[in-house]
Amino acid sequence: MNQVSSNNSKKLKPGQIQGDTGLWEMVIGLEIHAQISSKSKLFSGASATFGAGANTNVSLVDAAMPGMLPVINQYCVEQAVKTGLALNAQINNYSVFDRKNYFYADLPQGYQISQFTKPIVGEGEIIIDLDEGKQTTIGIERLHLEQDAGKSLHDQHPTKTYIDLNRTGVALMEIVSKPDIRSPQEAGLFVKKIRSILRYVGSCDGNMEEGSLRADCNVSVRRAGEEFGTRCEIKNLNSIRFINQAIQSEAERQVEILESGGSINQETRLFDTSTGETRSMRSKEDAHDYRYFPDPDLLPLEFEDSWVKGLKESLPELPDTLRERLVLDYGITPYDAAVLVEEKDYVKFYEKAALGRDGKLTANWMISELFGALKKENLSLLNSPVSPESLGELITLITDGVISGKIAKDIFAEMMISKKKPIEIVKDKGLEQVSDDNEILKLIESVIADNQDKVKQYLSGKDKLFGFFVGQVMKVSQGKANPGIVNKLLKENLK
Ligand code: ADP
Ligand code: MG
Repeated sequence: MNQVSSNNSKKLKPGQIQGDTGLWEMVIGLEIHAQISSKSKLFSGASATFGAGANTNVSLVDAAMPGMLPVINQYCVEQAVKTGLALNAQINNYSVFDRKNYFYADLPQGYQISQFTKPIVGEGEIIIDLDEGKQTTIGIERLHLEQDAGKSLHDQHPTKTYIDLNRTGVALMEIVSKPDIRSPQEAGLFVKKIRSILRYVGSCDGNMEEGSLRADCNVSVRRAGEEFGTRCEIKNLNSIRFINQAIQSEAERQVEILESGGSINQETRLFDTSTGETRSMRSKEDAHDYRYFPDPDLLPLEFEDSWVKGLKESLPELPDTLRERLVLDYGITPYDAAVLVEEKDYVKFYEKAALGRDGKLTANWMISELFGALKKENLSLLNSPVSPESLGELITLITDGVISGKIAKDIFAEMMISKKKPIEIVKDKGLEQVSDDNEILKLIESVIADNQDKVKQYLSGKDKLFGFFVGQVMKVSQGKANPGIVNKLLKENLK
């Protein structure tokens, strides 16, 4: 029955693909690697800072010198537990570190210390906000602690590869989602929400350009109602745009293969940012290929309930609760609140600007005008030329009727450049709204006198001309007349 409409590609929902034989749906699960914001590495005292000279942050443990032993970094463990709590997840009071064995030049130990059967955090869930106020829940499968590998530099010498071990041993949290994601858009929203939670907790700076947050995307396709298909994993995506593109092109590739009678090989793929397509990297290895076994150099982690409880109490107000509070306290829409809680800094700014003022109007101004202007100038909120105090003052000038909303936009544009306070700009330029009946009446009389023919037409029934008169009065007042009063007085005087 739906054949006709489903063939219309305009009607495709996000995550749907129109093949020759019908509609397909995407199934997506993400593995997010989040670098813990910690001064030192997971098992050594070497610095974990980004951007140091090559191989300057390497301890004997990181270089895997014989006889060196790992020592767990308690701070990193706390951050993982706090993150787990913020993801509404099960905290496992008993967890184990395993060796994941493989050879790679930037992995001197010959294995990565990770967690396999007993991760520090188990199942949880987060809510993501879709369009039109809709929400959906995405399950979290687990969060485990592991070490990062070093970096191979292939572009420093014509025939050699250089190795930088600074990143070797840096603490990562791997957050694995359930295959609950159904479109590239949802995948992007999931990453954004995780990033926001990590930043609130303070466990990871979420900086995707510097690589402290990267995602592996698992993608498969199926026809609605069918079992899950075979998945491919696209490695190491470091921007939301790339995540979107990679998932879309990978799903389209799979549909094409399946529709021409082929089957999907489970494999690990790379996203080529220049072509926007994925290509095969290696066939998918299974867990048993890594010969996981408990690391004999490390004791299992064991927590008391009271210690976990203490960490829970130390958590800041998190985005979801904060959002509900903003809706209640300031009367703004859940959608606006969701935008404002995306970053801690946004909320701080908003609450400073909105305190004791019209919350809705402040949210509108912040989200459309300020964010729009900052984006145009390529600035972040932290470097905003307009302070929360001045934005607040501008809102007060509007709600007090000192300036019209239209003039406020001109003043705002000026504030972006001059950093002047709004009231100074109003005074300098004489932009106060005219609300005095007598002054407005004078303007109305002159407009009527200048447009006698139009007045005649209006009086003989051409009601539409009313708008023309309002426009003329606003024009002669240079936009400063109070539109409400102009309307009222015009009606009384055009009789
Ligand atoms: P591995 O460790 O081998 O990558 P996991 O079972 O940990 O395997 O799963 C990795 C990711 O793949 C998870 O995010 C999971 O949600 C996702 N996933 C599992 N099955 C599918 C599927 N059929 N299609 C898409 N994603 C899937
Ligand atoms: Mg994987």
